[in-house]
Order: sequence, then structure tokens, then C-alpha cells
Amino acid sequence: MSRPIQATINFSSLRKNLQLVRELTGKKVIGVIKADAYGHGAIPVARVLEEQKVDCLAVACIEEAINLREGGIQSPILLLEGFFSEEELPQIEQYQLSTVIRQTEQIDILSRWKGKPFDVWLKIDTGMHRIGFLPHEFSEAYRRLKECPSVRNVVLMTHFSSADEPEKPKTLQQINLFNSLTEGYAEETCMCNSAGIMQWPAAHGDWVRPGVMLYGSSPFIEPHPLDNRLEPVMELTSQIFSIHNLPAGAPIGYGETFITDRPMRIGVVATGYADGYPRHAPSGTPVLVNGQRTRLVGRISMDMLSIDLSHLPNAGIGDTVTLWGKGLPATEVAHHAGTISYELLCNLKRARIKYIDTAE
Ligand SMILES: *Cc1c(COP(=O)(O)O)cnc(C)c1O
Repeated sequence: MSRPIQATINFSSLRKNLQLVRELTGKKVIGVIKADAYGHGAIPVARVLEEQKVDCLAVACIEEAINLREGGIQSPILLLEGFFSEEELPQIEQYQLSTVIRQTEQIDILSRWKGKPFDVWLKIDTGMHRIGFLPHEFSEAYRRLKECPSVRNVVLMTHFSSADEPEKPKTLQQINLFNSLTEGYAEETCMCNSAGIMQWPAAHGDWVRPGVMLYGSSPFIEPHPLDNRLEPVMELTSQIFSIHNLPAGAPIGYGETFITDRPMRIGVVATGYADGYPRHAPSGTPVLVNGQRTRLVGRISMDMLSIDLSHLPNAGIGDTVTLWGKGLPATEVAHHAGTISYELLCNLKRARIKYIDTAE
């Protein structure tokens, strides 16, 4: 048996999470599958979403889009970051893509391009202050886009900076600003990421753009009423491959950051930061052994981590350790490590990936 770390991806859970998006919104859905579908595998995930008839798929850049087309994906594909240079326009035409338009330079380029018409998504910056046209630039950008020979439909979009923090007034301000700017335009609208979908029904518009919730992970740090409707699509597991009984006073791992305060039984697991497990996860971060909770002790190494088995006398070599998945949300592990589940999921590497479908 080779190194036992494995990410199991369950398509049945993916379909259920998509179903939840549809139930909550009833709107057209853009399945966000950038960054290799948040570490789940862009093509396999795209195939499932396509079979479920999502209205569009979204990726960050043209390389990700071409990869999907070459993998046989035929759904509409949106480039969320838009094109970076004029050379991408023939590819946008060839691969039949749509693109976000976020700044004047792109409209200058588009106004010279005479390829087949395609859809564009006009990004309005309502307060995220990352990309998009500022409110006072919007109507001029819109007017110029409509004059471009290759522009077919325009969808009006914006992005929230704080939709995952429901107590902040920011999202409502962004919604109100977007609505006042786009009032009187016949174009379709699109505002919501996962947090918007779950928390801000007034912003559902015509299209929604779920990412992390499709993978069954909550975008919220605090518990959310919909948490139990999300099913983690990825389960990251490995095995205990070595066990030691250590006396009190024994330091564990690099830097001796954890020292046993009594005799302890310590298991070593074949998982490290080179697999994408967060190196900053401190002692105390939860893991499951045969479904029972225990904790990390000491620093994460490149290929290994240590866990406390003192209260699990039956745990042995070869037993399954769940790093995240059912019973241990990636969000919870991420919180211990000072990051978000998105980063854990899309950092996954080296692990064997196994696709299953419990509905079959
Ligand atoms: C990544 C991304 C999304 C999806 O965000 P989630 O929080 O994962 O739902 C939506 N819209 C844009 C513009 C994005 O870049």
C-alpha cells in the first residue's frame, strides 16, 4: 500500500449543494470552478454541473477555460478576471467564451475587434475597490460597450466585500448602490457569491455565482442556519502509520513547540504541508480518528503530522484519520489555522483523488 493520503470527492454531495442554491434562489446559476474547482478537479466537477444543466461556468482566466473546452465541456464559460491582453480575443472567439469587462483599456481593445459577437459582463465597483468601474464611470462604460461591434448581451454585475459578515451594513449599501445605478436598464444583473446567496436574498438578481457552497463549505466564520444543508464534497483522509508511547516532558516535532505534560500516546499521520495541510495549524487543531475527535500536537512537517491518541487506546496503525470532511468542516480547521476553507481546499496537492457517487 502506497502513501495513504486521499481526497475523496463525492459527486452526489455536489449535486445536493447545487440543488440548495436553486432552492434558495430560483435564479440562473454560474458554477464557479476557478482554481481547479477549488481543488476538486475542474473537468470532473464541470461534467457534473453540465449534466445538472447549470447555466454557465466561471473560471479565473483563459487557460482554465481552454482546459475545460479541451476536456469536452460545452456550457457557456465566463472569465471572471476578464482578458488581460488583445491576443486573448481570438481565443475567446474560438472557444466561445464570455468575459468580465472591468476597465476602460479593455473597452478600447474591444472597440477595435470585429470577431463574432459574444456576451460580456460589465463589472461595477460598488465598494469592494478591487476591480470594476466606479459608479460615476458606469454609464459611459455601458454606452461604449453597446457600440462595440462584437458585444452581444451585457450583464451588469458587482461583487460584495463583506457578505460573509452579516452584521456589517456594507452589503446592504452595495446592494442599494447597485440597484440605484442599474435602475432603468433592461439588462440582467448578477451580484451574489455564496455568502450573498445564503444571507442576502434581496440581492439574488437574475444570476448567482456560487463557489465555495457548491463544495459544501460555509463562507461564514460563525455558525449559519443553513450549515446543516451543506454537504462537504471533499473528504481528506490519511492513516496513522507510526505510534509512540512517550513519557512526560517529551518535546514533539520541529521547534519543540509541544511538550508532553504526562505520559502520552502519539500517532504519526502521513499528511503534511506539502499535501496542502496548513502549516500554521497549531497544537489543538481537531482531526478525526475513526470518526472520533482528537487534536494535533506539535508543528506540521512537510509530509507528516502528529496527533494525540492518549484517550483513544483502540486506535492503531493503519486507522483512518480525517483531516476535513464529514463531521469536521474545512471551515473549522481553517479557523484554527488562521485562514479560510477556500485556501485549504484549493491548496490540495499530491494527495490521490478518488471520485465517488453515493447516489449511484
Ligand atoms: C470566486 C468568485 C465567486 C465565488 O465566490 P464564493 O465565495 O466561493 O461563492 C463569485 N464571484 C466572483 C467574482 C469570484 O471571483
